[in-house]
Amino acid sequence: MSEKILIIGANGQIGTELVNALRNIHGAEAVIASDINDPAYAIRNSGPYEFANVLDKDNLHHIFEKHRPTQVYLLAAILSAVGEQKPKMAWDLNMTGLLHVLDFAVEFKVAKVFWPSSIAVFGPHSPQQQTPQYCVMDPNTVYGFSKLAGERWCEYYFEKYGLDVRSLRYPGLIGWRANPGGGTTDYAVHIFHEALKNGKYQSFLSANTALPMMYMDDAIRATISLMNAPANELSIRSSYNLAGFSFTPDELAAEIKKHIPAFEISYSDKDPRQAIADSWPKSIDDSYAHKDWGWQLEYDLPKMVADMLINLKNVI
Ligand code: NAD
Repeated sequence: MSEKILIIGANGQIGTELVNALRNIHGAEAVIASDINDPAYAIRNSGPYEFANVLDKDNLHHIFEKHRPTQVYLLAAILSAVGEQKPKMAWDLNMTGLLHVLDFAVEFKVAKVFWPSSIAVFGPHSPQQQTPQYCVMDPNTVYGFSKLAGERWCEYYFEKYGLDVRSLRYPGLIGWRANPGGGTTDYAVHIFHEALKNGKYQSFLSANTALPMMYMDDAIRATISLMNAPANELSIRSSYNLAGFSFTPDELAAEIKKHIPAFEISYSDKDPRQAIADSWPKSIDDSYAHKDWGWQLEYDLPKMVADMLINLKNVI
């Protein structure tokens, strides 16, 4: 069967990379990018584009009817830090948007749906080291509990309606092609831009704040691997833990210094994102992803830092 893939929220940090990766695999015409704004530069000339607002049911229904997608990737969301400034808006977009897509996916018999969750589903009472797939989850950000509720809805649509919905709990994602959209791990992208432009960076997280992170190339590969896995091998229909590797701002700065010896890092006090980071896991156990669909990480901290600096140098 030839695929017709609809990506909603395609202009963002993940969407711009995923659109081009899927177009390389399936051909440009098979991948319809969509968002509420004009297409991002990275995807503007590489294939079809639609204006789609996931909160506008008529508009979204029309897009499903017009393209009859076989796969849908829903990436539109308000992320953790912005969500704390606009809590009701974050709940509405993250929840109502998901329900619209799940309903239309059932109506139009979409073969597979991808929706990302996040390590933000965990909270202060979750184990912080090697956080397991199943444990106490008491997220205290709107973003976190919208993702946790979203996971429950995904599993529910799989169980009740047979919808083949697949999901990953992404850690913080780091890439050089697109800027992050307002999350708690954004420092780990900004630091590279500032290191190359100004040779210094003030981190909004404290020196010893360890968080799980992943290089974008691995995140895109994980997403496509999960979507290609045989349905009967997937034991989790809420969302799979995905570990990446963990580091602190201090450790990231030390790795950057190996390439830019004069680089200096400083730290700001009292940023609201610190409290969010403190409630999240420091490392993740993703053994179900290894066992069920053969996940293997490629990038560690030194490899990611080297690749980020080489590529970013050419574009800023
Ligand atoms: P982003 O903020 O960079 O992009 C989101 C996109 O959604 C934007 O282009 C925005 O214009 C679009 N959008 C907003 N409202 C919309 C609407 N009503 N209709 C259609 N599109 C709309 O986000 P991202 O970093 O690419 O994240 C994508 C998904 O991955 C989100 O669900 C996010 O929670 C999840 N995630 C991201 C990370 C990360 O580190 N980037 C980590 C964990 C989970």
